[in-house]
Amino acid sequence: MIEHALRADEADAGAPHAVVPGAVSRHQQSAPVKIVAIARDLGLRVWTEPLPDALSGKLVRDPERAGASGWAIIVNAQHVKARRRFTIAHEIAHFLLHRDQALQGVQDDAFYRSHLSGAIETEANRFAAQLLMPWPLIRSLNAEGVTEIRDLAARLEVSETAMRIRLGLPT
Ligand SMILES: [Zn+2]
Repeated sequence: MIEHALRADEADAGAPHAVVPGAVSRHQQSAPVKIVAIARDLGLRVWTEPLPDALSGKLVRDPERAGASGWAIIVNAQHVKARRRFTIAHEIAHFLLHRDQALQGVQDDAFYRSHLSGAIETEANRFAAQLLMPWPLIRSLNAEGVTEIRDLAARLEVSETAMRIRLGLPT
């Protein structure tokens, strides 16, 4: 099942490596992908703090709290780790791809919806999945014998749902 998915989805159109500086890929060499380190290398600071349950996170311009880029990510401390990691990756996507359209920042609700368009949110989700679940890493885990969805998700510290979507399997 996984092998089929691996063959079927080799090509990532608009994959992170097209936009993410090469040095960042060093954080994708072993599982789990070091998503906070990627954010830091991009000049973003990540803050984990309690937000209303209906919010996943935010990308904000805040000189007091930002990294070198002038931007910071705030992620909801009340959500589980796999979800927080996805939120950080999603906000990194907005920073890299959409910040010119979101100069006042972005606030994502629990379903990763914001004032940006649905197409932009879909793009951010796809990019986040590529960051957290790069194909070379999935293939190497698979070669180590990690083939169950549950185990792949645990090693990559993503939700089983995110893993299934990445592999093109029904959720
Ligand atoms: Zn978003």
